[in-house]
Amino acid sequence: MPAVLKAPLVVEFPFTRSLGPVQSAFLTGLRERVVLGVRTGDGRTLVPPVEYDPVTAEELRDLGGLVEVAPTGTVTTWAWNPEPRRGQPLGTPFAWVLVRLDGADTALLHALDAPGPETVHTGMRVRVRWAEERTGAITDLACFEPYDGDPAAPTGHTGAFEDPVTGIVAPARLDYVYSPGRAQSGYINALSGRRTVGERCPSCRKVYVPPRGACPTCGVATSEQVEVGPRGTVTTYCIVNIKAKNLDIEVPYVYAHIALDGAGLALHGRIGGIPYDQVRMGLRVEPVWTEGGRYPDHYRPTGEPDAEYDTYKELL
Ligand SMILES: [Zn+2]
Repeated sequence: MPAVLKAPLVVEFPFTRSLGPVQSAFLTGLRERVVLGVRTGDGRTLVPPVEYDPVTAEELRDLGGLVEVAPTGTVTTWAWNPEPRRGQPLGTPFAWVLVRLDGADTALLHALDAPGPETVHTGMRVRVRWAEERTGAITDLACFEPYDGDPAAPTGHTGAFEDPVTGIVAPARLDYVYSPGRAQSGYINALSGRRTVGERCPSCRKVYVPPRGACPTCGVATSEQVEVGPRGTVTTYCIVNIKAKNLDIEVPYVYAHIALDGAGLALHGRIGGIPYDQVRMGLRVEPVWTEGGRYPDHYRPTGEPDAEYDTYKELL
């Protein structure tokens, strides 16, 4: 029984979104140290504000409109967070809290800076600690902190701003340990010997590369290992004109679906060794490995005649 493979895997990308009028006012308010909620038709104030009433689905912007609430409030529930990680609001252990701000009917999720879990309790009074540099983001509210003074008075802000924030970039990050399982482990172990191994479905005979352990069409487990390639055929491709962050590849370049000889579906890889505008469907390619690489760095033309369309059309 081979060793179970596992490795850390981080999926990370910036997500750019536009805000719409309600979220725009809320985040612009934070930049200006004002917390805004939205009033519903039955007189409740929702903080953070939403575009539509969660009960009646009415559009709220035109009903009660935006209303300022106080930067002080009450913890309604909490959870201690002993191990802060990248992207979380405080560098030291802290509590996640739901805070109902004075003047609001709903609670806002954020971090509470507190020395230990014994100092946190439902019902405790807190206030906003503002970030020194504010850009119109939820992190403009640095955190909450314990507070035993009177409720702060709102300034009477209307929610109208000059130069409102209209969009944000929200970094998304998934950081976890991935274990590929039996079928993909066989694939990865074969790659370490520069071989590509898929699995054949016992019912439809299709060879899956990389193997998933089962045929999604027939719904049966696959176990017969089949070596494919190393050569293959470009079945379709695209020309990449946008340079990816952290990828040292000059644009434009070609990314292609490549059906390795003997495989029942295409995998994808970069095409090199040929001008990008000469890559075509049917082009015959072979993998190029770099020293220490775990998978082919790219594929290059073999110099063979192009494959006939009929030989790969089923794989498109
Ligand atoms: Zn099948």
